Amino acid sequence: MLNKRHSHAHPNMHAKRTDPTTGFFERIGCLDLLTKMSLQASLDRPLALLWIDIDRFKQVNESFGHLGGDMVIAQIARRLRERTAGRAEWCRMGGDEFACLVPDCNLGHAQQLALDLLRGIEEPLPFGDLMLRPSASIGIAILETSEDPFSCLERADRAMSTAKHEGGGRIAISGELVAGRLGILLAREELEIENQLHIALESGGLNLHYQPIVGFDGHIEAVEALMRCTADGNIISPAKFIPVAEKTGLIIRLGEWSLLAGANLAHSLDVAGHPTKVAINVSRAQLASLKFSQALYAALLCSNARPELIELELTESLFMDVSDTVQKNLHAALHAGVKLAIDDFGTGYSCLSNLKDLPATKLKLDRAFVIVLPHDRRAFSVIKAMAQLGRELGMTVVAEGIEEQEQLDSLREAGVDAIQGYFHARPMPEETLLQWLQTRRTP
Ligand code: C2E
Ligand code: MG
Ligand code: MG
Repeated sequence: MLNKRHSHAHPNMHAKRTDPTTGFFERIGCLDLLTKMSLQASLDRPLALLWIDIDRFKQVNESFGHLGGDMVIAQIARRLRERTAGRAEWCRMGGDEFACLVPDCNLGHAQQLALDLLRGIEEPLPFGDLMLRPSASIGIAILETSEDPFSCLERADRAMSTAKHEGGGRIAISGELVAGRLGILLAREELEIENQLHIALESGGLNLHYQPIVGFDGHIEAVEALMRCTADGNIISPAKFIPVAEKTGLIIRLGEWSLLAGANLAHSLDVAGHPTKVAINVSRAQLASLKFSQALYAALLCSNARPELIELELTESLFMDVSDTVQKNLHAALHAGVKLAIDDFGTGYSCLSNLKDLPATKLKLDRAFVIVLPHDRRAFSVIKAMAQLGRELGMTVVAEGIEEQEQLDSLREAGVDAIQGYFHARPMPEETLLQWLQTRRTP
């Protein structure tokens, strides 16, 4: 635990003193360093403090004596330092307690780092002829503007205690503790997902599956690219990883990747004699990013795909976003010659009167309308009205999530142009899609 008596030690007295076992700064050196680093922190370069406590370390000390305990601590310290590779300063705050001071590190990065450190600590550690399985509790605090750095360090320490009370082997964030156990578990789940996304990005675990959108006259209107993520042998669904990717900013990298992969497919289908549009989902964070138009042009250039074979799926609220960057990106997309579709129409605050102003050529009605068909006559009337309006505005109207013949019949009657759903085909990998297209052409 942090002892306040040391908090106001003279700044230059012990700045360079390091602990011989770990090579980390000693506690007093840490406090000096903390003062200095807090002066360089700002809103866009936040200072993150991590407090790490090895779980059940007393047991190690009691079983192997202090010399044995020191050897274990030295090994864990080495793992910790390797994983921060010069990006952070390390201090030994007590027997089995460490503080990590990370400049220019927001909460998302701090969580990622904490998870990585926890993984490092949890790797089995050979000791004599035994295999130790260490774990740790980690508390995170981000220095607030005008907060005393020592009170921030105390917050990190308290967050660590919470993690320890929850059973150890976990991470707690100061300031989010009111969320209780569920909040901490959720944060941990998100961290796991974020970590798996990183692994997937680095190890080729990202994949696009494609689902055909089929017109009532039988033609293939487009195929939608849907992202799949496999990490450590687990498949994570986009409903889980897309929100995490959006929260952490990773969606920008994922989005750039899917633009390129989707455009590549459009080109290879074209070359193989199936000139089919490929619809690619674009998130708010992507369209709000300055790099979006560059990424789109790069994808078109690298893939050699014809722009009219690319369709971007955006939600209606994105079209309505008046921010400069979003509007510029929309224009850039139109200028590049790609098509725009309104995704998930009918959810949220969809507004029919907005439709006339949007530069989209496709309207995708959300699955929520479809599941109640054919029995819900009111839903049927709404779909019919939307289909008519969409068509009068020159848009292709697509319904999503069709699983049953009855739903299909009802949508045909409502005047929808094309449908997408398990009824025709589930999302499938590229190879299967090629076979699927082939067999449809030669019935
Ligand atoms: P979405 O764009 O509305 O995609 C349609 C979702 O409906 C897909 O879910 C698809 O697998 C599912 N679906 C299609 N037909 C049926 C059906 O008959 N029954 C049922 N129950 N579901 C059906 P998926 O692949 O899980 O994707 C979920 C959402 O994740 C997508 O919704 C999209 O918003 C997002 N997403 C997927 N890939 C990407 C991506 O590459 N980038 C971005 N930004 N978002 C993506
Ligand atoms: Mg979509
Ligand atoms: Mg949709």
